[in-house]
Amino acid sequence: MVALPSFDIAGEVALVTGASSGIGRYFADLLAAAGARVALAARRTDRLAEAVGEIAAAGGTALALECDVTSRDSIAAALAAVEAGLGPPAILVNNAGVVVSKPFFEHTEADWDHVIDTNLKGAFMMAREFAHHLVERGRPGRIVNITSVLATHTIARVPAYLAAKAGLEHLTRGMAMELARYGIRVNALAPGYVETDFNRDFLRSEAGLRLAARVPMKRVGQPDDLGGALLFLVSPASAYVTGAVIAVDGGHGVAAI
Ligand code: NDP
Repeated sequence: MVALPSFDIAGEVALVTGASSGIGRYFADLLAAAGARVALAARRTDRLAEAVGEIAAAGGTALALECDVTSRDSIAAALAAVEAGLGPPAILVNNAGVVVSKPFFEHTEADWDHVIDTNLKGAFMMAREFAHHLVERGRPGRIVNITSVLATHTIARVPAYLAAKAGLEHLTRGMAMELARYGIRVNALAPGYVETDFNRDFLRSEAGLRLAARVPMKRVGQPDDLGGALLFLVSPASAYVTGAVIAVDGGHGVAAI
């Protein structure tokens, strides 16, 4: 019999940014359920404390980290705190993100900076510090960047978001190429519309329901639709995968819309 691929990440240390809500919170729960020790990073510490309590109550191990991904000092402090609290991390899920939705001409420089600084520069700085941390210790690792179907498709009113996610997707390829020699794999997970605080009001509106009807699978996603792809990308099952983008979008990205 051939050996089955291993999805085992028990005992590994994982850092998830944007873990105070939505997809990031689900990813933290998932990695903890898979036996990883998980650091949850975000700015809303009350939410993180609640999440850590719930993970511990379910038998997992988690640590709350106040972290603003737009601040280099905050990122460095968070990485030091993960190592001190849980041991050296081997998995980074770069999930923190924001969106500003207004027509192109109303997008201000501050809107642009807010979205790019969080979704693109923040992900870059976090990945760079994390990779540096691994290389200094001679340890391999995995980075998963959370991009979007909007990295390659357009909608109105979110120009900075489109640019940030397209940038992050291509940055994923560049990092994969440069970091392979250190045993660091870098991939992207590109969700379609997933119902979270980010978009719940919109998705339940008339326009949102029309949008869901255009998804080939006729529904928007829920955070747990992303679980299989994340577990694949952070586990030995994807040992020869780097620089890939896995779309999890019910076919939205290949639909003629
Ligand atoms: P949420 O708004 O629920 O979560 C966003 C998370 O990012 C929060 O935990 C927030 O925490 C964190 N965050 C925002 N800014 C910062 C910052 N400066 N530093 C640290 N953390 C920050 O949205 P989703 O869960 O929906 O989105 C998660 C990711 O998935 C994003 O990257 C988004 O672009 C992407 N995505 C979402 C889709 C969807 O349909 N929902 C579709 C495709 C991609 P806090 O405010 O506490 O800091």
